[in-house]
Amino acid sequence: MFRAIVINKNNDTSAAAVESVDEADLPDGEVSVDIDYSTLNYKDALAITGKAPVVRNFPMVAGIDFAGTVTASNSSRFKAGDKVILNGWGVGESHWGGLSQKARVKADWLVSLPEALSTFDAMACGTAGYTAMLCVQALEAQGVKPEDGEIVVTGASGGVGSVAVFLLANRGYRVVALTGRMQEADYLRSLGASEVMDRSEFSEKGRPLARERWAGAVDVAGSHTLANVCASTKYLGTVTCCGLAQGMDFPASVAPFILRGVKLIGIDSVQCPAPIREKAWAALATEWKPDLLKSVTSITTLDKAINDAARLLNGEIRGRLVVDVNKA
Ligand code: NDP
Repeated sequence: MFRAIVINKNNDTSAAAVESVDEADLPDGEVSVDIDYSTLNYKDALAITGKAPVVRNFPMVAGIDFAGTVTASNSSRFKAGDKVILNGWGVGESHWGGLSQKARVKADWLVSLPEALSTFDAMACGTAGYTAMLCVQALEAQGVKPEDGEIVVTGASGGVGSVAVFLLANRGYRVVALTGRMQEADYLRSLGASEVMDRSEFSEKGRPLARERWAGAVDVAGSHTLANVCASTKYLGTVTCCGLAQGMDFPASVAPFILRGVKLIGIDSVQCPAPIREKAWAALATEWKPDLLKSVTSITTLDKAINDAARLLNGEIRGRLVVDVNKA
């Protein structure tokens, strides 16, 4: 038996609880893993609280990511003892996930843990950090360079935002952090932000075009925030869009795209092909600094993670929340 956060559905409502699960009930898959750490992401919080229909079938073990050690493998790519990371692929949504002491998954879903990272380091970065790196690499694939000007990061105190601020500043960009928590300004500056702005300036309907300011953007908010970021992006600048923390809508005009050649690049971490995700993890292995972990990371347990999910949706958690699945 092992412990996991299990989401069950009764009539129209879902409820999450830590349960004891029989190993024989693990889903089919080529690789069995003993999990060391998972994390609490925005999507996990939606699934655990039932605030959005993230979970596709029940009962579901929550958790869209994990890092751990292979215990058995029918794949030539992995053997017992290998350290692995998993992000996405519908794990925690349609296939049992990582907020659990054990998992069984397809070999193709796993990435080998880069040597420079421990399983804890990898989950301190987690899906949020890997998504932040996908955004940074997408900006640079579009030709954005530090000398082009400022990069704005929205939702900067959250998981994706915090890591994006750090990664961009570490690569020499001048980063402007947009946040609803101005009390976190010192934290954001410690990650490398050159300026911290109140997100309220971006939260309401704005003009189709505003003063050109950003060479690039990492947006986790969507809705008016994304529209206003696009409207204030410089000629031929690039906006990466990965989240919907403000809303799934996009109440914008085409003006930034047809008059300034602004590029809007969508970022998906879930089905992202292996070469792109491996490139992101390889870069994280050299750029993600474990000495930052204390300020960016808090540690929780399976039992506490259920309450933490509501706190995360209320914007009460700063940076990354790592779940030690083996700690009572
Ligand atoms: P977090 O909850 O850690 O961070 C989200 C942050 O967004 C908050 O901390 C807050 O930052 C900001 N925010 C919250 N509400 C609003 C609002 N109404 N308007 C503007 N900003 C707001 O979540 P994650 O960092 O884990 O994820 C961020 C987003 O990215 C989510 O929507 C998530 O679903 C998405 N995501 C997408 C992925 C993909 O593959 N495309 C992968 C991972 C995440 P602050 O207080 O600083 O303003």
